[in-house]
Amino acid sequence: MEFCGKRIKTREKFDDVAIHTCHLEAGHKGRHAEYPFLQHLKAKHSRVANKIKRDATMTTGAAWKSEDAGPNRIARWAMQLTDKELKQHGLDMSKLRPGIVAKLRDKAASYDDCVDVAIKLTWLTYQMQNAPEAPKEIAAYLEDLRGSMSKGSTVCEVCRLPLDFKLFAEAKRGKAEIETCHKDPRAHNSDNVGFAHRRCNVAQGPMKLDEFYDWAKGILSRVGRV
Ligand SMILES: [Zn+2]
Ligand SMILES: [Zn+2]
Repeated sequence: MEFCGKRIKTREKFDDVAIHTCHLEAGHKGRHAEYPFLQHLKAKHSRVANKIKRDATMTTGAAWKSEDAGPNRIARWAMQLTDKELKQHGLDMSKLRPGIVAKLRDKAASYDDCVDVAIKLTWLTYQMQNAPEAPKEIAAYLEDLRGSMSKGSTVCEVCRLPLDFKLFAEAKRGKAEIETCHKDPRAHNSDNVGFAHRRCNVAQGPMKLDEFYDWAKGILSRVGRV
């Protein structure tokens, strides 16, 4: 599919860092839309749509306190800027602890990769058990970009058990039971991103998925389980 590509102005911070564009098919009728594939979820399950957009495009919240240290979440594409450029955008990286800077820099991704991740996460969401049916145009759009969809086929990236859409609504101490997960925690692109149970994602921690499996295998063999 060729995207329309018309530039869209947003009111988001760091808007000018990336050129936001319309992701409807080239030659479409009606209004331009940056995330047209999320429109149905946005109307029916806004928390899920917001989560997909946030996880795809923003860094995770950082635990800093000071007002002048910058916003809690930052567009991932802004993390591709130099410290000097970020300062011109009102974010002084030198005021953040080095550990936080490293963490934020790990989340850097291009605008196109972020939109691509949002498309993949939406495609995976509609294929969860108990997911709502995608309207025809949205299903056709997602299948054109990512391949055919089948309900119930989305599994946790870590433990490979099926994921249930209802888990989005379940939260313990404010933490959702489904999280966006990275096979390599330092690469944000659609090949590398999927969903996982919260506890599976937490267990993986900063390890690459392969490293995590080796680690778990070592433990299992030392305790005589394999
Ligand atoms: Zn357009
Ligand atoms: Zn799992």
